[in-house]
Amino acid sequence: HNPVPRATPGTVAQAVANGATRAPLPAAIDYDAYRAGGGYRLPAQLESGGLAVEAVIATLEDARLRGLGGAGFPAGRKWRIVRGYPGPRLMAVNIDEGEPGTFKDRHYLERDPHRFLEGLLVAARAVEAEAVYIYLRDEYAGCRALLARELERLRADPPCPLPELHLRRGAGAYICGEESAMIESIEGRRGMPRLRPPYIAETGLFGRPTLEHNLETLYWVRDILERGAEWFAGQGRHGRSGLRSFSVSGRVRNPGVHLAPAGITLRELIDEHCGGMAEGHALHAWFPGGASGGILPAAMADLPLDFGTLEEHGCFIGSAAIIVLSQHDGARAAALNAMRFFAHESCGKCTPCRVGTAKAAALMEAPVWDRALLEELAAVMSDASICGLGQAAPNPLRSVLRHFPEEIE
Ligand code: SF4
Repeated sequence: HNPVPRATPGTVAQAVANGATRAPLPAAIDYDAYRAGGGYRLPAQLESGGLAVEAVIATLEDARLRGLGGAGFPAGRKWRIVRGYPGPRLMAVNIDEGEPGTFKDRHYLERDPHRFLEGLLVAARAVEAEAVYIYLRDEYAGCRALLARELERLRADPPCPLPELHLRRGAGAYICGEESAMIESIEGRRGMPRLRPPYIAETGLFGRPTLEHNLETLYWVRDILERGAEWFAGQGRHGRSGLRSFSVSGRVRNPGVHLAPAGITLRELIDEHCGGMAEGHALHAWFPGGASGGILPAAMADLPLDFGTLEEHGCFIGSAAIIVLSQHDGARAAALNAMRFFAHESCGKCTPCRVGTAKAAALMEAPVWDRALLEELAAVMSDASICGLGQAAPNPLRSVLRHFPEEIE
């Protein structure tokens, strides 16, 4: 039994030793504190009929809440699609958080796990999911101990009838953050993406219609329902809408998770939230969306950061993992590092990715890049790979060809 000190929201958790896992157990807002703060009223209201599922979905649509795992699919529409398929239905929560540079889900889980669990219960009720499978990154051992304990407390004193709640461990494979590979892994098989269609909303876990969400998407459900759709939708900047949790790492003074309006520019994010660039470093290049989102030059630091705003420059925001590079770092070296990562993590199911990532990494080691050959290889990988890993793997490579020619010629 571990007495755990209670944290106030937003403070850095004080770790205490956990005898079972030897991992630090984050000092999060626990079940009693969360309920004392008004938590879990929403699933209880859904159960009693005081709150209608249709009203919940309409509010999420008005708030324009999007999937924050990286794809940005509108959450409310996803709930409607899954509800449209005949039951029994299931739900899966993706906390694999394997995209390099991304650590926002861990940030929220360590501090306020029940805010996400309340969103989970609302979603499960909305799509009438009989069971929910939470797939947690195995490296987050402290989070696992915390979540296991808090799930027990929730089960012991449930605010409403609960679906089956399963906590599953990943095993360190990047590809298991891809939703269909995650489902294969939950079912007990090697994590490899499925061919689509059918999409998992129709044929997912154990062949059933499945609602899949990232932790952060569910984390915002309570706040949106309590504060109203306008509160969330009205948060954007530069014509964009909502909030984004940026995982910022690299050459800034204050790295970490920074909650900011969608559409904020990199320059504003660094100046307003990160305390500026680190001493002795000037902005040279930046990953806007982890390893797979490509690399942009300093000259593009005034682009609004949101879904759909970076694609014309060959990049995307994905899970909003910003990696800031300075004059002491090379975009070329960062791209090679990313390609080696993809080669290591390729599941091997399809040839363009399995062979292409390894071949590209070898070609990128040459002192002068063979531009024509690399462009042809990148086109084959993005056009012919089965899943997002192989399709996005050439992004950093293409970014260097396009934005940093002086580094490779
Ligand atoms: Fe596996 Fe890569 Fe093909 Fe995806 S693209 S299925 S990771 S080999």
